[in-house]
Amino acid sequence: MPVFGAKSFDNHETVVFCHDRESGLKAIIAVHDTTLGPALGGCRMWPYASEKEALDDVLRLSRGMTYKSAISGINHGGGKSVVIGDSRTDKTDALFEALGRFVNDQSGQYIVAEDVGTSVPDMEIVRRTTRHVAGIAEGGVGDPSPATAWGVFHGIRAAARHKLGRDDLKDVKVAVQGLGHVGFILCQHLAEAGAKLVVSDLNDDAVRSAQQKFGATACSADAIYGQDVDVFAPCALGAVVNDDTLAQIKAQVIAGSANNQLAEDRHGQALADRGILYAPDYVINAGGIIAISHEGAKYDKQEAFDHVAGIYETLDRIFIRSAADGQPPNEIADRMAEERIAKIRADRAEGPTTTKRMAASA
Ligand code: NAD
Repeated sequence: MPVFGAKSFDNHETVVFCHDRESGLKAIIAVHDTTLGPALGGCRMWPYASEKEALDDVLRLSRGMTYKSAISGINHGGGKSVVIGDSRTDKTDALFEALGRFVNDQSGQYIVAEDVGTSVPDMEIVRRTTRHVAGIAEGGVGDPSPATAWGVFHGIRAAARHKLGRDDLKDVKVAVQGLGHVGFILCQHLAEAGAKLVVSDLNDDAVRSAQQKFGATACSADAIYGQDVDVFAPCALGAVVNDDTLAQIKAQVIAGSANNQLAEDRHGQALADRGILYAPDYVINAGGIIAISHEGAKYDKQEAFDHVAGIYETLDRIFIRSAADGQPPNEIADRMAEERIAKIRADRAEGPTTTKRMAASA
């Protein structure tokens, strides 16, 4: 199984394979790029069918974190970890303590947090063996979902301004797919702003609750794509923009929390061709990581959430450049993230040379 030669490797700085005999931990820590600062990224626990699948996933996710931090203006690099196992049956204290020891061995170049399959209580256990852990409840963000939902709300406002000519959302029709940790709180913000909601979830209780609390209209899981709404907010699954759904989507804006919303990159252009404005997923759903980047000696929630609301301005810049350059927003977001990293690299490369030149001429 090639690592350096893997398609997903893409210039990673560090890939660590972790095995702990006593707890049975099998994990991979990947640090993609630390140009902007120590790599920050969650730990995913998943019963991968093969080691190759786990490696590909951690590399892909870690690279994604580099872009997410860079576009969000935070001084962190991109990293991620995966634990191979079933989060419903394989969790033990010893497993997470062992993970913490491996994280600690990275000397602060990788900071772990929760992700799919891991939780705030798991990270509290990780903290027993390393201080390089974020997203914990005490003195920190805890569950990042409220921050994520806050960012998505402001992202929807930014997209509405560009596409609908207004960002107040009063009577704007929004279809929310998924009423989980993020989707439900998002509905609350949207309802407070006067938006009209259509919702779908496989969980009937969540749907009933949204109907009662927010006056939402319910629709089936399959019918959500074809709703006659202004905004479609995917907050459940990845790959929801694909060849099948493209033909159904009537919304003028797609803006939601789900990761990897485009089945393939080319679907970003396909949306633009149809006049649908797409808020790149890793930009609009960065609220959690932005809030976590505020953790430290004194976490100020208000300050962190104000920073999260800045997703509005970030998307504004992306949409303006997208219109000017005639390139879809997902491609523009990638360029802007790469430019920020390249600038810092160039500044650094210049620093010592300039000093050397000055020393030589003195
Ligand atoms: P969650 O598991 O709490 O909620 C997902 C919801 O989607 C569940 O209620 C589930 O029943 C529902 N669902 C699943 N399949 C569905 C379908 N076909 N149709 C309608 N509903 C369906 O997850 P979450 O934490 O709310 O995250 C939602 C999305 O946002 C995920 O893609 C996640 O990766 C992404 N995300 C979350 C955060 C965060 O802070 N939680 C941060 C960044 C990105």
